[in-house]
Amino acid sequence: MNTSVSASQTPLDAVVIGAGFAGLYALHRLREMGLNVQGFEAGSGVAGTWYWNRYPGARTDSASEVYQYWFSDALLKDWNWSERFPAQAETERYLNFVADRLDLRPMIRFNNRVTHAHWDAAANLWDVRTDQGASVRCRYLLSCLGPLSEPKVPPFEGHENFKGRFLHTSRWPKEGIDLSGKRVGVIGTGATGVQVIQTIASQVGELFVFQRTPTYAIAMRNTKLTDEDRAALRSRYTALGEWVKHSLAGFAFDMQRKAWADTTKAERRAIFEDLYADGSLVMWGGNFAEVLVDPVANEELSEFMREKMRARLTKPGVADKLIPTYGFGTRRPPLDCGYLEAFNRDNVHLIDIKAAPIERFTEAGIRTADAEYPLDIIVLATGFDAATGAINAIDIRGRDGVSLKSLWDRDITTAMGLQKHGFPNFFTSAAPLAPAAAFCNVPTCLQQQVEWITDCVAHVEQNGKEKVIEATQAFEDNWVKHHDQVTGATLIAKADSWWTGANIAGKPRRVLSYLHVGNYRKACDEVAAKAYEGFEIR
Ligand code: NAP
Repeated sequence: MNTSVSASQTPLDAVVIGAGFAGLYALHRLREMGLNVQGFEAGSGVAGTWYWNRYPGARTDSASEVYQYWFSDALLKDWNWSERFPAQAETERYLNFVADRLDLRPMIRFNNRVTHAHWDAAANLWDVRTDQGASVRCRYLLSCLGPLSEPKVPPFEGHENFKGRFLHTSRWPKEGIDLSGKRVGVIGTGATGVQVIQTIASQVGELFVFQRTPTYAIAMRNTKLTDEDRAALRSRYTALGEWVKHSLAGFAFDMQRKAWADTTKAERRAIFEDLYADGSLVMWGGNFAEVLVDPVANEELSEFMREKMRARLTKPGVADKLIPTYGFGTRRPPLDCGYLEAFNRDNVHLIDIKAAPIERFTEAGIRTADAEYPLDIIVLATGFDAATGAINAIDIRGRDGVSLKSLWDRDITTAMGLQKHGFPNFFTSAAPLAPAAAFCNVPTCLQQQVEWITDCVAHVEQNGKEKVIEATQAFEDNWVKHHDQVTGATLIAKADSWWTGANIAGKPRRVLSYLHVGNYRKACDEVAAKAYEGFEIR
């Protein structure tokens, strides 16, 4: 394959970085508009998150009927989900099916990681380069990198001395790893750690779980879908597609209509039981709005969740370490399939590294403040530098050579998560201060953002003399203020997690995600209806 597209060639209309949910759709939409588009993808295949995260047990916490593209009846008709909550392999297959159906593969340069994107103000073009030496110029640059794609690999002292295998969950090899009889250590108990631990507990010899902060676990109710189930869901696709767009978090559920204060404790308990029985994130996104803002309401729900967790644990002493004391839903609560029960097994050991922190990796394994654990494999389920990490990994320079990373190292701000002042014709999806950064069933939000961005590009193509658009500083400042008002009122803002950037040392703190998918959509639509008010078009 020819990888040396030279900068002297005719400029492209657009470049799309990333070939996951957003990137594939953006390529399709821009091509439909008649633009000349090139995609770049670091992996050797499409699917983004579902290409990279092939660790044991990886699956969505979103029901399959809302984890798909809505724009094509043919795609909706011809794809058959096999489970309510599909596993990684199936979701990866789905995105490959879409890429093939829409014939998107020829538009994408695989195995090309974009490293450099500089705005050439004299030419009104982006100069884009990859690690393989590809170099193109384009008018519009779209970042479709996903919210969780830059792995966080903590600098554990002595990690280079460890003689066993050491890997991050998002870099799990395609061919898998033989874990049978092995002594495996897992660091991290977020949504990823939960899935790895529950899946490998019965495969490994001994499993050592190094836990710093415990997590709430909602028992997932996964089911195989029959033809009848699929037919019933398909008959609701139109309604579901509309529902998710206007919901709190991009799922087909809404918050409780009744106010907390108008219900008795017994009524609330019955509601919690119903929500819990659904075995989905409705427990978070379909609960009372008050639990997100009122510590007393939150504590009542948290106690309910703790009780559910305690009932599943049998080993003495484990519940005290494994059950969180912080408020439910202030950090992302994962669904689980046997996570808690894994700790009832004799070969699974919970190591409390808050009490005795990891001091270093040794040749043989991990040394904590009070013990040494010999290991064959160490799995880092330590998460991601969310929303900004993957964008910052590219040397992006806007007007006057200003680096985006240097701005975000000081303060993480955007214009609705769609643009950044100073970076003309650069559009972002899954970036900070939009719901796609975290508080969303991601495909819902990525589709909305791609539609907004591509409609905007069409408008600029028609109306811009120079075909250039840039968010004004005033518009960006207003959005940041509004975002801080909305999200700052929540208990989430006070909790330390990737949702607030607190998982990355030195990352400026801000709730990364806007809260309320429907309200965000409305605000975006209003901007578009007013000919992109707040954006300067020239
Ligand atoms: P995460 O939620 O950020 O969890 C990372 C875990 O690693 C935490 O337990 C964290 O502890 C621990 N950790 C990080 N650095 C550490 C260190 N230096 N020493 C010890 N422990 C350390 O990351 P994630 O589990 O990969 O999940 C990220 C997000 O991806 C999820 O919230 C979810 O949105 C998405 N996801 C979704 C699914 C799904 O849909 N089923 C599955 C996986 C991931 P602390 O909390 O103490 O920092």
